[in-house]
Amino acid sequence: MKYYSTNRQSPKADFRTAALTGQPSDKGLYFPEEIPFLERKMIREIKNISKEEIAWNLLTSYTVGSIPPDVLKNMIDAAFDFDFPLVRVNEDTFSLELFHGPTLAFKDVGARFLSQCFSYFMQHENQKTVILVATSGDTGGAVANAFSNINGVEVVILYPAGKVSEVQEWQLISCGDNVKALRISGNFDDCQRMVKEAFADPLLDEKLSLTSANSINIARWLPQQVYYLDALRQWEFPELPVVSVPCGNLGNIGAGLLAMRSARLDVPFIAACNANKAMYDYLTTGQYYPASTVVTVSNAMDVGAPSNFSRIMEMFPGGSRELKETLSSYTITDAQTIKLIQEEVAGSGYHLDPHGAVAFAALQKHRKGAKQKGIFLETAHPVKFPEVTGGMRGSEEMLPDAIRILKDRKKNFTSLSGNYSDLRDFLLSMEKN
Ligand SMILES: *Cc1c(COP(=O)(O)O)cnc(C)c1O
Repeated sequence: MKYYSTNRQSPKADFRTAALTGQPSDKGLYFPEEIPFLERKMIREIKNISKEEIAWNLLTSYTVGSIPPDVLKNMIDAAFDFDFPLVRVNEDTFSLELFHGPTLAFKDVGARFLSQCFSYFMQHENQKTVILVATSGDTGGAVANAFSNINGVEVVILYPAGKVSEVQEWQLISCGDNVKALRISGNFDDCQRMVKEAFADPLLDEKLSLTSANSINIARWLPQQVYYLDALRQWEFPELPVVSVPCGNLGNIGAGLLAMRSARLDVPFIAACNANKAMYDYLTTGQYYPASTVVTVSNAMDVGAPSNFSRIMEMFPGGSRELKETLSSYTITDAQTIKLIQEEVAGSGYHLDPHGAVAFAALQKHRKGAKQKGIFLETAHPVKFPEVTGGMRGSEEMLPDAIRILKDRKKNFTSLSGNYSDLRDFLLSMEKN
């Protein structure tokens, strides 16, 4: 399988090159030359296979030529070693819980598969790779955890000071020595801008082997397809569900659309947005306007200019008119998010996190009271957001051990301004060590 750049200026790359470089030099995103179809028989009999087999069926065509089948099998076993339970919240609503990984966030899925790829690809390389990531919350923790103590890889993570939750920050600043956390005075867009500048910097290009681990990396993006089919494996009804996804950088929903294209299933999707609503605006006006970020209680979705938009456009060349046949979008305010969290605790007893709550609220708006069975994606454990979820499953005593031990670990971070030159100096000082 070859990957082309969505900007169409860079040469095509195989999976290995696309994963190791992260982004083509023309600043597009890698996209597969063709979308492989899954066997219809496999889809019909999906109830009889395991999530590892689903992953294997989905990922072989994408990695063929770069990863031998037996290696891929081991990588899948290591990366997908936690479940994605589909939990019934009320008669028509199901939560696909994606937060049972080590950092309690769905980003563990992509990050763990990516680190497996790097560990395999780097085993015969001499030069260390430096992974540079900007995070609005959960990416950093998942990447830091997945790459902690992986040989041949240094990780540098930029996060906006004061704009990630306390638990998220602990996860960023208490990893192995090969993980460096940079606390930036600015917002997520500042972090992302600095990372972009670093990738475009010829001096760094000469001195370091820099790569990205954001959801734009193909090796993080593609494995996210797996839980969409795993949800259908657990689905017990004749009609297909509508699937509501809490959107930030649009990687998650893009992977869902890709998985359903491969499976040849007409599953309707909902792009659930908070106040950051580039996709909502695109579907309502037909125009894509990247905006600056608005801070909300669902902070991992605070992305004004989502990068994976271009991949969705590759799948829907007919633009907003074509996309609207599959995708609806709704925006949810912080007040609506918090109200729904409280209502569910009191009613069904289900504890939503703010991101899952946005997706659930969008699903309710979509149904307008009508009966339609739907799934929303629960992308993080509510315990990570005690400030928003208020007590209950979010309280201190309920912290899982994996999180509790972080509190007492040595905290390790560097504070930097939002100026690119500071980041450059930091990266160059690493090269000397
Ligand atoms: C990253 C993230 C999202 C948004 O996913 P994208 O792939 O960026 O659209 C939603 N919820 C949580 C908890 C996240 O960490």
